[in-house]
Amino acid sequence: MDISIVVPLYNEAESLPELASWIERVMNENNFSYEVIFVNDGSTDDSWKVIKQLSAKNPAFHGVAFRRNYGKSPALNTGFARAKGDVVITMDADLQDSPDEIPELYRMITAEGYDLVSGYKQKRYDPLSKTIPTKLFNATARKVTGINNLHDFNCGLKAYRNKVVKHIEIYGDMHRYIPYLAKLAGFNRIGEKVVHHQARKYGKTKFGLDRFVNGYLDLGTLWFTGKFGGKPMHFFGLLGSLMFILGFIAVAVVGFGKLWDMYHGNPYILVTESPYFYLALTLMIIGCQLFLAGFVGELVARNSQRRNDYEIDEEL
Ligand code: UDP
Ligand code: MG
Repeated sequence: MDISIVVPLYNEAESLPELASWIERVMNENNFSYEVIFVNDGSTDDSWKVIKQLSAKNPAFHGVAFRRNYGKSPALNTGFARAKGDVVITMDADLQDSPDEIPELYRMITAEGYDLVSGYKQKRYDPLSKTIPTKLFNATARKVTGINNLHDFNCGLKAYRNKVVKHIEIYGDMHRYIPYLAKLAGFNRIGEKVVHHQARKYGKTKFGLDRFVNGYLDLGTLWFTGKFGGKPMHFFGLLGSLMFILGFIAVAVVGFGKLWDMYHGNPYILVTESPYFYLALTLMIIGCQLFLAGFVGELVARNSQRRNDYEIDEEL
């Protein structure tokens, strides 16, 4: 099979028939063998009924339904697990992403050798309250992830080599960082294609402004776990040791200073009257705590099922 199209959706009943016939048209015009996997993320409207009708008419249309709303990431993850096509395309169900982009995305993966191609909504039809924070967000994401050629990490329209979606796991709200997850898994031929974008035709957006706060927090989590997830001591141990040593030196200076002054008959103050004593004490305590956090982290990492979760790409 050439293409699997994964469509996560939550209350998009009005858009679905239009999206389905548009996809059908593009697939038939290009003679692709394909499947469409609609992942119904606990919709409370008629979405599931519509999907059943679509699938009865065209056996290439499949559906999976969650019992309740879990979020876009779990929906994508479910679709990825089922995708059989050589190239996997994800797109939103709200008609903001155009199926006409699929043939070129397919070509970039199969002919140009990309592992992942992300859409770039250069001209967006979204309110300013969304586009401006998005610009800032993408600039930060480029810096942190080191993927400098992407302008639009969170674009719903993306194409993947099948292998990529089988080797990344998307959970929580991590769908915003799929290119980074792919990069962390060793797929680093990541490209971008400018895509057409339309204003939402039916229904309303499912994400509020909290997306930006959560987006930044998730970026921090991914960065940290990507770098130190398997070896927490390298982070906490280093920081803890530095603080402890600094505190120890400070205590030594304060203590010996007093002894020196006593010995030479100079006026001196009690150690506990010096502010440096308290600073040093705090440094040593926090240093020990960080060190302990490192140890506990190592114990957790050691018992994790995934401690040896590396993958062999090829073997002869
Ligand atoms: N979506 C989903 N589960 C959710 C929220 C959204 O499957 O909990 C789907 C939604 O139906 C749409 C896609 O994710 O197909 C993108 O959502 P939306 O268009 O609301 O996001 P925006 O375009 O505003 O970023
Ligand atoms: Mg949308």
